[in-house]
Amino acid sequence: MRRRPNRIVVVGASLAGTTVVDTLRRHGYTGSLTLIGAESHPAYNRPALSKGVLAGDEDVALPPLSCEVDERIGTAAVGLDPDRREVVLDGGERVGYDGLAVTTGARARRLADLGAAEDGVREMTFRDLDDARLLFGLLATRPHIVIVGAGILGMELASASVDRGATVTVVDRQPPLRSQLGPHLAGLLTRAAQRRQVRFAHHRGGVRLLRSSGPPVVELADGRRFEGDHVLSAVGCAAETGWLAGSGLDGERGLTVDSRCRVRQDIVAAGDVAAFPSADGPRRTPWWTSALEQARTAAMALLDGDDTPPLVPSPYFWTDQFGVRVRVCGALPADGEPAVARDDPPSDGVLLRWPGTAAAVNKRIPIGRLRALTEPTTTSTETQR
Ligand SMILES: Cc1cc2nc3c(=O)[nH]c(=O)nc-3n(C[C@H](O)[C@H](O)[C@H](O)COP(=O)(O)OP(=O)(O)OC[C@H]3O[C@@H](n4cnc5c(N)ncnc54)[C@H](O)[C@@H]3O)c2cc1C
Repeated sequence: MRRRPNRIVVVGASLAGTTVVDTLRRHGYTGSLTLIGAESHPAYNRPALSKGVLAGDEDVALPPLSCEVDERIGTAAVGLDPDRREVVLDGGERVGYDGLAVTTGARARRLADLGAAEDGVREMTFRDLDDARLLFGLLATRPHIVIVGAGILGMELASASVDRGATVTVVDRQPPLRSQLGPHLAGLLTRAAQRRQVRFAHHRGGVRLLRSSGPPVVELADGRRFEGDHVLSAVGCAAETGWLAGSGLDGERGLTVDSRCRVRQDIVAAGDVAAFPSADGPRRTPWWTSALEQARTAAMALLDGDDTPPLVPSPYFWTDQFGVRVRVCGALPADGEPAVARDDPPSDGVLLRWPGTAAAVNKRIPIGRLRALTEPTTTSTETQR
């Protein structure tokens, strides 16, 4: 029988990290367990940052761990020696392990990382509780905000900002949400945004941030410029692997894992940092449910190795924006036109099903309003020239 490890170290103390810890103890792991987390806050619910927190609801804490664990909160791991099986902490201490879980998530990608910002631009991004508190404060003056990035996060930030009285322009190299959600859902949410006076502009040549004495100026490839009281980049996230530099495991595309979330026999990875096998090769799926299910599998793989059942992902995604609540089971983007599978007034929801797929969406809006959003609006979108 496989020997279980005596010392497990988990680096990254958010959803995936705390789920690994909880799963290990629930499955009878009695050895030493250390959880290392760089943020000074107790673990919190990141999706709430772009929703409740910007509306003033700070109730974001994840349930506290009730098991025995040596929690090192406010401590960053700065290095890994996989041969000696040691994690190096920011104070210089080395913590030995027999099993390691890497759950360091992701960081906001910057336009500067993509070579799309002039030197010295101060770029504002949105990823953690401090970012959310900062933006919450800035919204008090009902500013004009320019958001670069019309993906899910950019659109949620636009939604929360207009709810607080800000005016918002969203700029991207492609039309909002289409590549993530498919044309039907993208159109629906874009129209809901336009009804709230959000303005859109895009050009396939992309966006640059120019340095100015105030907030940066956003320039589209066709020369159109956008200025705001604040400019926010929401251009995706990159795996947080900087601390693994030199260990042979680093890389922005994340740690490649097998179907049991193993990087190698003694190291697992889960959540936004992990690139899980898919039909298109290893891919990060930076969503809440993926982090949860990968973390459970990763913990079991540390304990039971090959006896752990491989993870078969159950893709699930949600977003709340502009008064529309979307829940998707199945693969995205959802291409083609869906049929209404159920119109369910008691739950105020509509279930849509896409032909030939298992994808279904429950929008918590009445069918009448859904139909209204499916109609073209008179508000125009600035489109690519
Ligand atoms: C604003 C926002 C809204 C979102 N909304 C949704 C949504 O509506 N639906 C959905 O499905 N998903 C949503 N997500 C995605 C979801 O929150 C993530 O998939 C999930 O949080 C991933 O959890 P994780 O534990 O892997 O990573 P993270 O939550 O990123 O946590 C990683 C932790 O590791 C710590 N860490 C990093 N480096 C180190 C180090 N060197 N040493 C120690 N600690 C370190 C970090 O500080 C962080 O606390 C949203 C994400 C954001 C940012």
